Amino acid sequence: MINRVISLPDEQATLALGHRIAQACTGATVIYLYGDLGAGKTTFSRGFLQALGHKGNVKSPTYTLVEPYTLEQLNVYHFDLYRLADPEELEFMGIRDYFTDDAICLVEWPQQGAGVLPDPDVEIHIDYQAQGREARVTAVSTLGESLLARLAS
Ligand code: ADP
Ligand code: MG
Repeated sequence: MINRVISLPDEQATLALGHRIAQACTGATVIYLYGDLGAGKTTFSRGFLQALGHKGNVKSPTYTLVEPYTLEQLNVYHFDLYRLADPEELEFMGIRDYFTDDAICLVEWPQQGAGVLPDPDVEIHIDYQAQGREARVTAVSTLGESLLARLAS
C-alpha cells in the first residue's frame, strides 16, 4: 500500500494537490474524498477539474448529488453524497452508469454510499491543522498504486 502525507498550508496548496493528482490520472479512476465540512474536498476537486481543462465554476453538487463534466479526454463525475439519505438511493440514480471505463469519479462523503458505491483506487483524507490542512493520500488498488508512483514529488 502506498501512502503519502502532504501538508496543505493554504487553499492554493489544496488546488495544487488536485492538479497533481489529475495529471497523474491516465484513465478511469475512482477517488474517495474524506474530510469534515469545509476541509477542502470541493477545493481539491476544483483544482483537479481545472488541471484537466475545465474552465467554468466548480460548485458542490450538494443537492443534485452529482455534477457531470465532459472534458476532452474523458468524463469527470463529481459526487457529494452528504445529503444522501440511504445508500440504496444510488441504485435509483443509476450509479453504475457513472463508474465507466472512460470516467473519473470524485466522491465527497463516500461513507454515505457504503455498500453500494464502487470501490475506490485512491482515498484522500483531508484533516484540519492548527494552520491549514493535511492530506493523506492512499492507494487502495493496483491502479491507485501506479497513480501514486507517478505523482510528481
Ligand atoms: P469541503 O468540500 O471539504 O466541505 P470546501 O472545499 O468547500 O470544503 O471549502 C474549504 C474551505 O477551506 C474554502 O473556504 C477554502 O478556501 C478553504 N481551504 C481549502 N484548502 C485549504 C487549506 N489547505 N488551508 C486553509 N484553507 C483551505
Ligand atoms: Mg464539498
